[in-house]
Amino acid sequence: MQRLLTTILMLLSFAAQAAKTESSLEFTIHKLESDREGPTVLVVGGIQGDEPGGFHAASLLVTHYKVTQGNVWIVPNLNFTSIVQRSRGVHGDMNRKFAEVGKNDPDYEAVQRIKALIRNPKVDFIFNMHDGSGFYREKHTDWLHSPKRWGQSIIIDQEKLAVERYANVGELSRQAITKINQHLLDEEHTYHVKNTRTREGDMEMAKTLTYFAINNGKAAVGLEASKTLSTAKRAYYHLNALEAYFETLGIKLERNFELSPKVVKRKIDENIQIAFYENKMLLDIAKARSKIGYVPLQKDAALDFRPSNPLIAITKKGKGYKINYGNRNLTFLHPQFFDYDHSLDSIAMEVDGIPQDVAVGSLVEVKENFLVKPETDDYRVNIIGWTKKGIKNEAWQKISKGSIAKRFSVDKNGELFRVEVYREEKFSGMILVRFTEEVADNKPNAPQALQPAQPISLAALSR
Ligand SMILES: [Zn+2]
Repeated sequence: MQRLLTTILMLLSFAAQAAKTESSLEFTIHKLESDREGPTVLVVGGIQGDEPGGFHAASLLVTHYKVTQGNVWIVPNLNFTSIVQRSRGVHGDMNRKFAEVGKNDPDYEAVQRIKALIRNPKVDFIFNMHDGSGFYREKHTDWLHSPKRWGQSIIIDQEKLAVERYANVGELSRQAITKINQHLLDEEHTYHVKNTRTREGDMEMAKTLTYFAINNGKAAVGLEASKTLSTAKRAYYHLNALEAYFETLGIKLERNFELSPKVVKRKIDENIQIAFYENKMLLDIAKARSKIGYVPLQKDAALDFRPSNPLIAITKKGKGYKINYGNRNLTFLHPQFFDYDHSLDSIAMEVDGIPQDVAVGSLVEVKENFLVKPETDDYRVNIIGWTKKGIKNEAWQKISKGSIAKRFSVDKNGELFRVEVYREEKFSGMILVRFTEEVADNKPNAPQALQPAQPISLAALSR
């Protein structure tokens, strides 16, 4: 199916990202639903924090796919604390806590919430996403390719399940694998079914999420990509595996990018933005400097932000905020606190000579120069890193490429700059300006803003 999918040009989908206050690091639930009847599957990423192939694939599913038949529910960040800390499990291995977990265990809440979701009567099939060592082979070839390895396999606990729907999990997995193996980058990456025969006495596997699921009436498998491969290649295989399995189960979906390791890498690296306070300010931190200074946050208010994907976490640290994305430590925000002025939704600008109305909290691409033209003198414009003697209000100044001191850029490349607007010492909003060689064809100078996100439908029974 994956090769037949039409690549649909859509705006970057900031689907299903709810506004948050300071990251609690609780996992989030994202539901891609369709009006056409079909099974409901649950995809779980990040049960172990150091397996980025699995959680990035789950996150891309949230942000870049649309389901047209059946339903796909996604938890991309189950063990969010461990993802942020790049640890298998900060409080031990969460995937060994499904037979038993103490009430005092810091993972207790998360385990109870995901168990409730697994048991939800609507859920038919569960995928637990992993990155495993080496390459699983039925027969020993060498130390990296052997029955003891996990990479490039679909893990089942037993051939047939005592469940109502999709009991023939061994057969379904082999059908999916035939499809996955049509998209191998190398023979070595060939997928196999690995049956752990958990019921026959595998005490370790008996503590896992999938074993809990199959004993609660649900079909479930583990998906493993090899840790030998890059994160992008692992995510590539995971997405291939999910698409193949979904097709086998009768779920249809559309993806808005070409499924190749190169494009997957770009999608993982690119889509890293945060909107603050109902779009008063947007930060694109894909290539952010390690510190961003004087960020105008709202005085006496909880931090309110909306990430462009569910793997972005903001945590308070000292006087500022640390921003993580998956396993990456992205940047640190040094705030400066202001009262906010709510009188400004957009501001007139001239971008490369073309007048346009630019919403606050958006990003504008500029080739040569820009000019900010507020309607009244009440508004003071501050272009961070640009100065001219005697000029306090930087409105109506033509700002050319190269005239802003590079060290003030948001990004390491010195291309992305902040235009801040104030009114009587209150912060009215920010616009990001990116100086680029080429303004993309499909969006000629069009300001980009985070899409007003749909609220996450936190399942009523997920608590
Ligand atoms: Zn794992």
